[in-house]
Amino acid sequence: MNGPRIPLGRSHLLASNVMREARRAGLPADNLTPLGSLRRCAADVGDVSLLAVAPPAAHGEVLDGFLALPFVTAVLARLPSFVEAATDRGRVRLHVSAPEDAGAALVWHTGARRHTEQLQAWATKTGLVLRDGLLSRPNGALVSTPDEEEVYRQLRLPFIPPELREGLDEIDVAARGALPTLISRADIRGDLHMHSTWSDGRDSIQHMVLAAKQLGYEYVAITDHSERSYASRKLLALEIPIQREEIDMLRSRISGIEILHGIEVEIMPDGSLDFDDSQLEQFDIVLASLHDDRGDDRARLTERYVRAMRHPLVNVITHPANRSPALSPGYDLDYDRLFDAAVQTGTAMEVDGAPGHLDMDGVVARAAAEAGVPIVIDSDCHRADALDRQMRFGIGMARRGWIQAGHVLNTRGVDAVRTFVARKRGAERGAR
Ligand SMILES: [Zn+2]
Ligand SMILES: [Zn+2]
Repeated sequence: MNGPRIPLGRSHLLASNVMREARRAGLPADNLTPLGSLRRCAADVGDVSLLAVAPPAAHGEVLDGFLALPFVTAVLARLPSFVEAATDRGRVRLHVSAPEDAGAALVWHTGARRHTEQLQAWATKTGLVLRDGLLSRPNGALVSTPDEEEVYRQLRLPFIPPELREGLDEIDVAARGALPTLISRADIRGDLHMHSTWSDGRDSIQHMVLAAKQLGYEYVAITDHSERSYASRKLLALEIPIQREEIDMLRSRISGIEILHGIEVEIMPDGSLDFDDSQLEQFDIVLASLHDDRGDDRARLTERYVRAMRHPLVNVITHPANRSPALSPGYDLDYDRLFDAAVQTGTAMEVDGAPGHLDMDGVVARAAAEAGVPIVIDSDCHRADALDRQMRFGIGMARRGWIQAGHVLNTRGVDAVRTFVARKRGAERGAR
């Protein structure tokens, strides 16, 4: 069953709706849990599947109850252990498992195929059999696994977080006891990338800041698009002082959260920046980005980024690949060169949580952190009610990249962010 890939944002919405409807209808099962690439927080998802846990006697009732939910437009498959339904928003598959096998079922249906195959081989070495969502002894006796922790415990491995189950080196690293403590949402103290009505955001700065404060952030940066960016609306150079006045006014009225006046400045074809230095140095933080390749190849795109990073006023490169999950892979870049430049110049690179980007992700994010690149994780949000959801997507991408809190600038207080900016500006002044 290889249908088209679905962007994470859309599949996440579909799964959330299904879970809510199932709860509302009183489906006789414990909470439904997303499975597969959705649970691993992959930027694009193969199919939306969920697990329901219920006693075996209730499995038929759960599966039929699911197929009778109002959003189901057609029944595509009905088997004893799973059903598949068509809905207005895409296909959904529901698996069902007994409570004592829930852990093995979750492990079985969550990991990428390569991870599951490696885990099967590992299980064989430890004298167990992992197959079809069940863990058993070679004589066929089932091993009770009420949760995933128990599965890994039986396999004499530490728990491997879902986002790492890609079939890379995670089992070897786990066996050595060397898995990192991955970053989590609670580590994030501020959000350094969001838009307001000054560019293509839907909500006012005040609205964004109040929503961010509600989330417990200590600081935010308002970073609208610069004048010549590829955005539907942008901040004009002559509006910069007026926007700053508004931010100053909000600073005096809203306590308990710091507002940084930032900008997402466009990198021009020659690697220069959309605003000039006298304009840029008025901002508290400068994010630089490419939204259009203008027909450039790998070498030229990489060069544009490197030039931008060498600019003393550029602090963060946002969504470097500028990809669109399930639609476009984005730019082909020489990441090693970008990472070298980022480390040398003291420039951070971003893990962007906007569903239209989700970039850097997985292997690239991991390589960046390993190279010592400072990382920021942002929502790149254009509406206040999505600030949390998009930050969570960003966290998911970062976890897929094995990223820990210590790699990430915005797990630190606002003073650390200001110092990060000042150091690059000061280093340049010192060198002059
Ligand atoms: Zn952008
Ligand atoms: Zn943005």
